[in-house]
Amino acid sequence: MARVYNFSAGPSMLPEPVLERARDELLEFRDTGMSVMEMSHRGRDFVGIAEKAEADLRDLLAIPANYRVLFLPGGATAQFAAVPMNLLRGKTRACYLSTGLWSEKALAEAQRYATVTLAASGKADGFTRIPPRDEWHLDPEAAYFHYTANETINGVEFHTVPEVDGLPLVSDMSSNLLSRPLEVERFGLIYAGAQKNMGPAGIAVVIVRDDLVGQPLPSTPSLLDYRKQAEQGSMLNTPPTYNWYLLGLVLEWLKDEGGLAALEARNLRKANKLYAALDRSAFYSNPVEPSCRSRMNVPFRLAAPELEPLFLKEAKAAGLVNLEGHRSVGGLRASIYNAMPEAGVDALIAFLAEFERQHG
Ligand SMILES: *Cc1c(COP(=O)(O)O)cnc(C)c1O
Repeated sequence: MARVYNFSAGPSMLPEPVLERARDELLEFRDTGMSVMEMSHRGRDFVGIAEKAEADLRDLLAIPANYRVLFLPGGATAQFAAVPMNLLRGKTRACYLSTGLWSEKALAEAQRYATVTLAASGKADGFTRIPPRDEWHLDPEAAYFHYTANETINGVEFHTVPEVDGLPLVSDMSSNLLSRPLEVERFGLIYAGAQKNMGPAGIAVVIVRDDLVGQPLPSTPSLLDYRKQAEQGSMLNTPPTYNWYLLGLVLEWLKDEGGLAALEARNLRKANKLYAALDRSAFYSNPVEPSCRSRMNVPFRLAAPELEPLFLKEAKAAGLVNLEGHRSVGGLRASIYNAMPEAGVDALIAFLAEFERQHG
């Protein structure tokens, strides 16, 4: 059975060289005589794997020395709570921008710990654009400002880092971290679940500036306490070791591919040609304002939505799978993360033309 082009939003495709290496090392990692899954997280071999992953991430993103890098369980959703718990630092308010369903989830969770002030919301526009910067209401008393860099469901992405009047900038980058170079020094905190663009589900990366760490709410669980985790090298308890190892293999692959500038060029090419194919014909449409279209997640519809089940069926037969939109919004969606080869996007574009020829 051949591998398909998997357009799933997450868990999503992993680079084939990563899977091949994991296969080759599955039973015996190097000369240890055991699988990474069977190793003590405190042992020299696993600690080496963990430290290499952190070093490679620092290298790829040029993370300054005054930032801690944490590898934590619980996905991005655990960070929805950990961010207010750690970053309120004696304040009671946090400012959130809503640009889609993931920002809504982040701010709903933050409301359990903080008074959330809404800077602006794209909801009235059906989350098809980022509210213009001059319409945001920043809360000067907020402990931080939170936004979602890429809305995985709605297909809305920031292409620049917002300026927020000196508030610590916090971003959920679950679905676009490592898809392009990033100015980490502009952020107070960046977090991302791995399963979109970095590795398998079950581990999240947190990059946090030193000075924001160390004043958690008293009720903060130890596992979510950034300072405690930083002091323990993210090993306050047994971490998801195998996921950490696989994430490390993805980072090595990114370096082999030429780093984030090379990935960005490829991602831009992939996204541009897919949007061009959708825009070329009235048979297909993408609802997002062109200036904030996502390079990672491309939602689209057919002019005849009743043909969408047939589209999915024929796409699957052509080896193009998981093209359904998120259950909350319906329609179709192609997720084209780092690991989606350009040939996969070309195959989808050819399929779009052929499906239109037959059914348009
Ligand atoms: C998938 C996703 C999440 C949730 O991630 P989990 O790892 O399932 O908790 C949060 N934010 C964004 C932007 C996502 O794409």
